[in-house]
Amino acid sequence: MATLFSDTFRTQGLRKKMITELRSKGIVDEKVLQAMEEVPRHFFSWDEIFVEKAYQNIAFQIGAGQTISQPYTVAFQTELLEVSRNSKVLEIGTGSGYQAAILTKMGAKVYSIERQKYLHEKTKKLFQMLKIPCTLVYGDGYKGFPQAAPYDRIVVTCGAPYVPDTLLEQLAIGGRMVIPVGEGETQTMVLLVRKDEKTFQRSEMGVFRFVPMLEDKNGGGF
Ligand code: SAH
Repeated sequence: MATLFSDTFRTQGLRKKMITELRSKGIVDEKVLQAMEEVPRHFFSWDEIFVEKAYQNIAFQIGAGQTISQPYTVAFQTELLEVSRNSKVLEIGTGSGYQAAILTKMGAKVYSIERQKYLHEKTKKLFQMLKIPCTLVYGDGYKGFPQAAPYDRIVVTCGAPYVPDTLLEQLAIGGRMVIPVGEGETQTMVLLVRKDEKTFQRSEMGVFRFVPMLEDKNGGGF
């Protein structure tokens, strides 16, 4: 525990290298880069054996068969979202909590949903310990979280077979949604900007690889 939750010169240095790599891959938003430089990614890696791995540009297993997204993917999605201080953001797929922690660091008010109870509870404990003020919800992302809608931003961090209508409804007018869409091995990153009640402007932003967004039919248990 002591090693996992200490941010040493070594881990700070690894993080600086990670930021340099993100810049070289085309991430330019200084607010995103700054948040990623400040948040120790290894705190979200669950195990001391992953401390070094946390700063390589790879996705890896965090338990319950799930992965923490690659730093580049997190940076790319966050950059597309264009969050500002006090933006209300809904995330689907809490997982390790890293993406939610980055958004919170940027000053957003974040609600994040996870369908696997084990992951939800584990990350909730972590956030309490790290004092990250983010609302973690155990539930089905296909339903969104109507209690706090509408959202200025919605980010989906699992591969959705289609864009759920419920999420479109929960997006504020003028809001942005970033969602990887596709059922196969890879997904297309889709950016939707809500122009008015009925109009969404859609752009495709490249190909990525995510774990699937699952329907709630398994009951969401571990
Ligand atoms: N944002 C996470 C990435 C986690 S991987 C991070 O920063 O670590 C995607 C997560 O989506 C997994 O934890 C998976 O359990 C979750 N997920 C899949 N289908 C879901 C659904 N219908 N509702 C909510 N979460 C879902």
